[in-house]
Amino acid sequence: MPVVFFGHGNPMNAIQSNAWTEAWNRVGAAMPRPRAILSVSAHWYVPGTAVTAMPSPRTIHDFGGFPRELYHVVYPAPGDPALASRVQSLLAPTPVGLDGHWGLDHGTWSVLRHVFPEADVPVVQLGIDETQPPAFHYELGRRLASLRDEGVLVIGSGNLVHNLHAYGWGRHSMEPYDWAVRFEKVVRDLMRAGEHGPLIAYEALARDALLCVPTPDHYLPLLYVLGLRRPEEAVSFPVEGFDGGSISMLSVRLG
Ligand code: ZN
Repeated sequence: MPVVFFGHGNPMNAIQSNAWTEAWNRVGAAMPRPRAILSVSAHWYVPGTAVTAMPSPRTIHDFGGFPRELYHVVYPAPGDPALASRVQSLLAPTPVGLDGHWGLDHGTWSVLRHVFPEADVPVVQLGIDETQPPAFHYELGRRLASLRDEGVLVIGSGNLVHNLHAYGWGRHSMEPYDWAVRFEKVVRDLMRAGEHGPLIAYEALARDALLCVPTPDHYLPLLYVLGLRRPEEAVSFPVEGFDGGSISMLSVRLG
């Protein structure tokens, strides 16, 4: 299976049809059907590592101030408790909790609603341990690499550049900030070159990192995805662009 990082952006993408959501749909249509999906979402950023282990994960509306319509969206994909246990054993000796309370947050369903609209592929979410440094998350990705041979699609959902303070609310056609474009280009070039070290140590990458990654949550899912990369494996960018000037919608596909 390929591995994909999705830039999910504004939750409204869940119920809109635009160039990004149409490209997400094409990404799903262009890959072999996965047996299950493991999603690393920026929005489950908590102390400790956990996987959702319930047979029917609920759809979580983890945002405020959006139109009522968005709160009615349900993404009824089944869970996969056996995959949750498999993830737990692959990540050992890192302790991984089998969670029965979380579910699918909008980092997962706002994208999957377009990638797999039928919601018939089981989905397990993996939380991000907020107490750990970037290298920890890359290493966890490495330990998950064998899932690719087991028909499991691993996705990371975040945004490579994510600055909500600079975001042009309601002015979505605004030009991207120079610092956002520069940082995204540096990251793209390093991914093409297969140089993961500087991407793990992203805080030292450029001064722009302070603006582009003000908090790690939306960047770290990318490190899981890169951890699953095979040597010399090609990288492609099936979705591109910026939203509101300060959110990179770049998607990254490996394999
Ligand atoms: Zn988000």
